[in-house]
Amino acid sequence: NHRIRLAARPHGVPVESDFLRDEAPLPAPGPGQALLRTLWISLDPYVRGRMSDAKSYAAPMEVGDVIVGGTVSEVVSAESDALSPGDIVLGYGGWQEYSVEDVSALRKLDPSAAPISTALGVLGMPGFTAYAGLTAIGKVRPGETLAVAAAAGPVGSAVAQIARLRGARAIGIAGGERKAAHLEALGLDAALDHRAPDLPGRLAAAAPDGIDVYFENVGGAVWDAVLPLLNEFARVPVCGLAANYNATSLPEGPDRSGALMGQILSKSLTVRGFIQREFAPTMFADFQREMSGWIASGQVLYTEDVTEGLDRAPETFVGMLRGDNLGKTLIKVA
Ligand code: NDP
Repeated sequence: NHRIRLAARPHGVPVESDFLRDEAPLPAPGPGQALLRTLWISLDPYVRGRMSDAKSYAAPMEVGDVIVGGTVSEVVSAESDALSPGDIVLGYGGWQEYSVEDVSALRKLDPSAAPISTALGVLGMPGFTAYAGLTAIGKVRPGETLAVAAAAGPVGSAVAQIARLRGARAIGIAGGERKAAHLEALGLDAALDHRAPDLPGRLAAAAPDGIDVYFENVGGAVWDAVLPLLNEFARVPVCGLAANYNATSLPEGPDRSGALMGQILSKSLTVRGFIQREFAPTMFADFQREMSGWIASGQVLYTEDVTEGLDRAPETFVGMLRGDNLGKTLIKVA
């Protein structure tokens, strides 16, 4: 079993020596477990947090652990009546060719309903994150203006398209001209490159009526540009802070938290963090039904950024954090 394990906790941007490739004997499933052959691995930003030992919402990996990650796999054998060899399942096998998992933790996929890789993207955790954050916290209404960054990624692109389906104007912010062109092709009302000069000025021009919902995926300079444009009663679902994930210290300059609290108070802002699993029990079924319909009708488009080969996972992961990806970042293993 070829695997990639955490060799050392990264300091800043992960480097090759933080990862260890090795071979292990094929694991054997116990009662209620299945042996799975990995087909697809999802590379997600939160995994960078789990490589560190800082306290977070998910326990950190230990040095030596196989790198964690969502997977779509084929059942090789199962010590359970619920699955048969050849079935395709969504699981959490991580960066390895084979995994043993509890059958109760797996979700069987119907390959005739949608491409199986979408269970890791638009029809899976990232798509649900967009849907839940927008519905439960963003509460976007017709005629309002929404802004979202990392807008070419799986969360951001779903946020922007769902907002438009709900009658809002959607401004997408992403890094580079290639991504901005992609956002225009998705039909967003404005597409801004955050790497080009004067993001605050261009964002103000794109949001003449201010911003009612800012779906926060990145933090950093984009948040600085958004904050002055937020309207009274604006909602900010705080989903991720990708600009900070490789940071090793606080940003330079004076502490601005007092000014931020002043804005929250004077504009009656709702700034609410969330982890998607909070909403899974109440909203996942609605999400699956609505999102499947939108995809079938072409009202929501999605893109996958596929790299072949398990061994390329580390470099592809680091590239995703930097913004090299367009769409959902996936490793095709087999
Ligand atoms: P993406 O595929 O969008 O990848 C992350 C993107 O972040 C990069 O592609 C890059 O896009 C952008 N980025 C990185 N650094 C910066 C920067 N300094 N300024 C602006 N943008 C930057 O990831 P996902 O769609 O999977 O996830 C999006 C966000 O949602 C992440 O923050 C993630 O942690 C969060 N998340 C939260 C969940 C929750 O339950 N709260 C669940 C799932 C995801 P670009 O080239 O456009 O800059």
